[in-house]
Amino acid sequence: MIRKLIIGADQSVLRTPAARVTDFGQPLQDLVRDLHDTMLAPQAGNVTGIGLAAPQIGIAQQVMLVTLNVGHRRKERKIVTAINPEIVAYSTATCRMEEGCLSLPDLYDHVVRPTWVKVRWQNPAGHWCERKFDGWDARIWQHELDHLHGRMFIDFLEDKYTDIGALPAQAALGPDFAGASPA
Ligand SMILES: [Zn+2]
Repeated sequence: MIRKLIIGADQSVLRTPAARVTDFGQPLQDLVRDLHDTMLAPQAGNVTGIGLAAPQIGIAQQVMLVTLNVGHRRKERKIVTAINPEIVAYSTATCRMEEGCLSLPDLYDHVVRPTWVKVRWQNPAGHWCERKFDGWDARIWQHELDHLHGRMFIDFLEDKYTDIGALPAQAALGPDFAGASPA
């Protein structure tokens, strides 16, 4: 089912850390399906969603979608459903890319973030996965992870850049930093 997108930088559900998922039953499966339907629905301005986090449809749970291979000519796009995702490691090298957000229509700006990230997450069956991503893949992971921690890309625009978005302060130290407060 296509859900209504939560729009605006001041919406409390977009500004509150989302809860970790502990129940992988039918309500979660329904939420995942709704996220897919909503992300792939036609958006204003003819843009296609390439990522979506549950808070963006008003659900404060750590569930998000990331489309892989955006911008690749040969590789097919693939949507990953990530539950309770965490950044395990990230590059000290950063890059600057333009971002937009389905919750902030018509707003695009440049954000500096690590070039690659290594992420672990649970799939809808509850199995843990771990993989390293770069390019657009890494960018979308970090943008969506921000949503699960009450942050949005406009918090990290270059002129007020003080932090590296999705990353908890101790991300470089080890994998177990779930629930760490935003740096
Ligand atoms: Zn967004």
